[in-house]
Amino acid sequence: MKFAKINTADTETLDLAGLGVGPFNMSLAALLDSQPDVATRFFEKQTAFGWHPGLMLPGAHMQTSCLKDLVTAVQPTSPWSFLSFLVNQGRFYSFLSTEKMVISRTEFVEYLRWVSDNLDSVQFDTEIREVNFSDNHFVLKTNDRVYKARNLCLGTGKMPYVPECATPFLGVHCFHASSLMTSEINLAGKKVSVIGGGQTGAEVFLNSLRGQWGKAAQVQWVSRRASFEPLDDSPFTNEYFTPDYVNQFLNLPDHKKETIVSYQKLASDGITPDYLLELYRELYDRTYLHQDEVDWQLLPDRTLTDMSCNESGHYELRLNNALSSNGERVIADVVILCTGFQNNLPQYLEPIRPLLNLDSLDRFQLSSSFKVKWNGPDDRRIYAVNAGLHSHGIAEPQLSLAAWRSATIINDLTGKETFRINRPASLINWQEPMGVAI
Ligand SMILES: Cc1cc2nc3c(=O)[nH]c(=O)nc-3n(C[C@H](O)[C@H](O)[C@H](O)COP(=O)(O)OP(=O)(O)OC[C@H]3O[C@@H](n4cnc5c(N)ncnc54)[C@H](O)[C@@H]3O)c2cc1C
Repeated sequence: MKFAKINTADTETLDLAGLGVGPFNMSLAALLDSQPDVATRFFEKQTAFGWHPGLMLPGAHMQTSCLKDLVTAVQPTSPWSFLSFLVNQGRFYSFLSTEKMVISRTEFVEYLRWVSDNLDSVQFDTEIREVNFSDNHFVLKTNDRVYKARNLCLGTGKMPYVPECATPFLGVHCFHASSLMTSEINLAGKKVSVIGGGQTGAEVFLNSLRGQWGKAAQVQWVSRRASFEPLDDSPFTNEYFTPDYVNQFLNLPDHKKETIVSYQKLASDGITPDYLLELYRELYDRTYLHQDEVDWQLLPDRTLTDMSCNESGHYELRLNNALSSNGERVIADVVILCTGFQNNLPQYLEPIRPLLNLDSLDRFQLSSSFKVKWNGPDDRRIYAVNAGLHSHGIAEPQLSLAAWRSATIINDLTGKETFRINRPASLINWQEPMGVAI
């Protein structure tokens, strides 16, 4: 494909418009920075880079190696690698002395902010309001002006997931954790229920116990999982996060994919073992070594099934205890939902919705190169990142393969092997064993 040079006139037509600048589209922007013939612009509604700002809890760490950055896996010589950031900031030698491969979320955000501030193609303060298709181009209406593009990459992330029974109560005292650090929260003297047994649930529980938002009277942690379960970060499980595994997974029938993804849940959604140990030790100290001023309860193996608000303004949560098979009731003044995120079709796509070939669950149907199936011309493409757990598997919402996915998209867009990515990348023989096929 031949690309037009970018021009900044009002009629500028981009080869690729990136919608949203989280780590995934930023990876694409960072790799495309080495391809000056491709005219791109990446639009972000925030005024400056922020990564899940409401979840930047004290002490939070990444779950993945710092080498799984925006570019290193496919272009280690890129100026936008994490190592390059360390050198630029004068931290290289000190960083080595920390012997860390997993960094704090604060440092990861600093890295991402440094990249986004230095990439010419990233444009903040621009919210995509509407995407149309006319005269063989995508037309993007933003808060600022209209842009035209031949191709798109959708990277506006996921939406907070709220259990249906909690939806009527959303407000100051019942909210999704995604707004915790960006809202005024006061838990002083309150009975708090933390719902959700993943990493966020663990961080919110511990920070609530430690009085991050005022000294709570009681904190209870409810999880559907049988216990508070660790992230499986062991070597063979990590092989799920390789291009080779994704390529095998892609060819499986849909019903099999669903079963496998749910079986692999703890490979991406468990709690980091270091954090579990820190939490357990703190609970030990609070139980045996000093008089704890906060009353706390651990309630695993319970599903929140219903919720109501009584006359005195307290929430009554009904839980199903899977171990005892009994229904239970707990009372809370504040309910914090650490219930994860889900893919919704972004509102801005409504004008072209009739052109999208969505599946029966309103999800994108993605090709192996992350192209959305749609009824437009073949040379006008819509790519989507973080939208293919159902098609590409467990690695898709994670950072592990972000650089590989960006390179896959760029190779498809440019119609050539701009980045070399098809080298064997797994120790496991996922397909047929060597020898005689039966
Ligand atoms: C707290 C937390 C910690 C995580 N930690 C890890 C980890 O350690 N390792 C790992 O592999 N994965 C991790 N993940 C999972 C995953 O890597 C992240 O969710 C990641 O942020 C996904 O990147 P994204 O670019 O798809 O979306 P997001 O980071 O959500 O970015 C989307 C961007 O689009 C912007 N946007 C939305 N709508 C519009 C619009 N209409 N116009 C313009 N811009 C818009 C948003 O402002 C946002 O900046 C974590 C997830 C969470 C929630």
